[in-house]
Amino acid sequence: MADYDVVIIGGGPAGLTAGIYASRARLKTLLLEKMMPGGQILTSPLLENYPGFPEGVAGPKVIDDMVKQAQRFGLEIKNAEVVKIEDDGPRKRLSCADGSFGAPAVILAMGASYSSLGVPGEKELEGRGVSYCATCDGPLFRNKETVVVGGGDTAIEEALHLTHFCSKVSVVHRRNELRATKILQERAFAEKKIEMVWDSVVTEILGKERVEGVMTKNVKTSGQKLVPASGVFLAVGFTPHTVLVKGLVETDDKGYIITDDNMSASRPGFFAAGDCRKKSLRQFVTACGDGATAAFSAQRYIENRN
Ligand SMILES: Cc1cc2nc3c(=O)[nH]c(=O)nc-3n(C[C@H](O)[C@H](O)[C@H](O)COP(=O)(O)OP(=O)(O)OC[C@H]3O[C@@H](n4cnc5c(N)ncnc54)[C@H](O)[C@@H]3O)c2cc1C
Repeated sequence: MADYDVVIIGGGPAGLTAGIYASRARLKTLLLEKMMPGGQILTSPLLENYPGFPEGVAGPKVIDDMVKQAQRFGLEIKNAEVVKIEDDGPRKRLSCADGSFGAPAVILAMGASYSSLGVPGEKELEGRGVSYCATCDGPLFRNKETVVVGGGDTAIEEALHLTHFCSKVSVVHRRNELRATKILQERAFAEKKIEMVWDSVVTEILGKERVEGVMTKNVKTSGQKLVPASGVFLAVGFTPHTVLVKGLVETDDKGYIITDDNMSASRPGFFAAGDCRKKSLRQFVTACGDGATAAFSAQRYIENRN
């Protein structure tokens, strides 16, 4: 078993930032990433709200630079999926298909992913009008008509947020009532720009180069309707990648890892950062902030043990 001071699981912005901080603190640090480093932001052509880039920056570009920056300080990055974690107290053992790694401190940065609808046009038009994040992409649809798909808190929050930019927001929901909390419902129903498309599912996202609208089907009447839109925001679910740590560290009812302000999870030596953590805003900049704090806390934890 190869030994490290810190092992980070996940090479998105949270994991990479933790890697920069931990290796710059001269801790022997390994980052394990099952795909290529970058996480969700790799699919974003333009990251507009990350400070320091007045014209925005492409997701893959900023990740490429973060990898170089981390490696300059000595971060070791391996392409491997962690499939099992064992905790014997002083050392944690992480198993991958072709080897295992040990460290006193583990940073959990496995991120999360949006649920997709699985309809024609969705994958083809992702980043060209299909979005999973109104906070990220809402301003790109100023004075345009948009559609939000979903009926929970996230969908209604997204719809309300979009009313600051868009001329009209149609909310397509498969039932005839919302699951969102009452206060959000009241706000949505009072908002003139929001129109509800009840009892309906999206069957296709339309458009050649960019989104031009969605085709909906009424689940009661089977009637079809074309809703014109320049943007489609999908809010049908977001799942943290935390099956790996189920029962090991405390999670909430949705599976998000519960931490304190120092990113410490419920079990000593485990820290969590980014979208897999229970928190209010899941964004690039907050993932980086979490990563920095988690690495700092891991450093403190190691120093206090010695
Ligand atoms: C299309 C899109 C556009 C976005 N646009 C913006 C934007 O404009 N502005 C903004 O601030 N935010 C944006 N976001 C949100 C932002 O990308 C996320 O908040 C951020 O990536 C979270 O970082 P993370 O490191 O916590 O997780 P992730 O980015 O999800 O990375 C987690 C990584 O962990 C890896 N992993 C998971 N499990 C394992 C395992 N068992 N072993 C090894 N590796 C594992 C995954 O492969 C993944 O690479 C966008 C997201 C999407 C999807």
